[in-house]
Amino acid sequence: MTPFERVYLDHQATTPMDSRVLDAMEPWLRERHGNAASRSHVFGWEAGKAVEAARAVLAAGVGGRAREIVFTSGATESNNLALLGCARARKDKGMHLVSARTEHKSVLEPLEALEKEGFAITWLEVDGEGRLDPAHLKAALRPETILVSLMHANNEVGTLHPIREVGFLCKEHGVIFHCDAAQSFAKEPIDVEADGIDLLSASSHKIHGPKGLGFLWVRSRPQVSLEPLMFGGGHERGMRPGTLDVPGIVGMAKALEIAHEDREAEQDSIRKLRGALQALLIPAGGCTLNGPPTPRLAGNLNLSFEHVDGEALLASLEGIAASTGSACTSADLAPSHVLLAMGKSPAMARGSIRFSLGRGNTLAEIEWVAERVLEEVRRLRELSPLHKMATENS
Ligand code: PMP
Repeated sequence: MTPFERVYLDHQATTPMDSRVLDAMEPWLRERHGNAASRSHVFGWEAGKAVEAARAVLAAGVGGRAREIVFTSGATESNNLALLGCARARKDKGMHLVSARTEHKSVLEPLEALEKEGFAITWLEVDGEGRLDPAHLKAALRPETILVSLMHANNEVGTLHPIREVGFLCKEHGVIFHCDAAQSFAKEPIDVEADGIDLLSASSHKIHGPKGLGFLWVRSRPQVSLEPLMFGGGHERGMRPGTLDVPGIVGMAKALEIAHEDREAEQDSIRKLRGALQALLIPAGGCTLNGPPTPRLAGNLNLSFEHVDGEALLASLEGIAASTGSACTSADLAPSHVLLAMGKSPAMARGSIRFSLGRGNTLAEIEWVAERVLEEVRRLRELSPLHKMATENS
């Protein structure tokens, strides 16, 4: 008999909704069903009030002002709005942008779309651990650079980027800095003022809130102008029309409050559990760590297992939820673009697995997962002709 039916180690793909979040949302899913834009009755007023209270909580969470929050359907939309909206609004000032190959697809693909519109993009290189060198950014900035987009925490390998240095360089050069904080929001300290951020993307479902919701924080002093991607209704100060998801917004703010109650202690305990899994798997598993030991997102453990296919390993780990590459691209069997950009071989990239730990995981779960992984790695290696050849020759 196995001690666990299922263990969830895929918190970077999404997180379970916290029951306190669901409780906060419930009245807004039932009797308090008003449209936050209805100005003529109490249903609308109470919904509007709840949205504004949530806006203030979320803005304070990143050190901004309530009116700077634009609600979206998630970080994918926030990234699209930030990049397409800002580049198109500023194209008279220049048509050059800077980003990195290790960004999420929801940054890479809008940037590729902008390239087709005539914008030039400089792609910064990262080192073997996915780290950026601010000196490379400094060298890439030109008089016609209008926007830099760099994430805070990498979703695949957990690398934390030096956003304060990036923000400082951007301010020095009068360039807008967009930061995709989907993975770090509510986990790592973020302060849009001190970090020099102008546009910040965040997502609710990565912080135990409801899915299909997020926001783009848009600096108002001085105002960063965005061309909207959609039209109709003038909501969110003309930047993102559509009836607001009141229950979801209330839930996202509650999720942030819960995360911030005890942020450091919670992240520390997640970091310790990740360290325990890492210590059990390296070197017993003949695997290497992808991404830096530090600074790294607390819950991320990305490992490459030599002579083992990551997909095959995942498939054999019944009841254990982890991922190869990022969840958004796990339907696509190409090796991870992030690991390739870090200079890993396609074979090592294919042998990689991301475990992402979060709230609720226990040491007993971690010990069981490590045991199961080591068992399956041994079994798969025995079946691998490459492994056989390597051990015969050694
Ligand atoms: N950016 C990063 C770094 C992410 O990890 C994700 C989620 N995989 C997104 C953007 C997209 O977020 P959402 O699911 O809210 O659209």
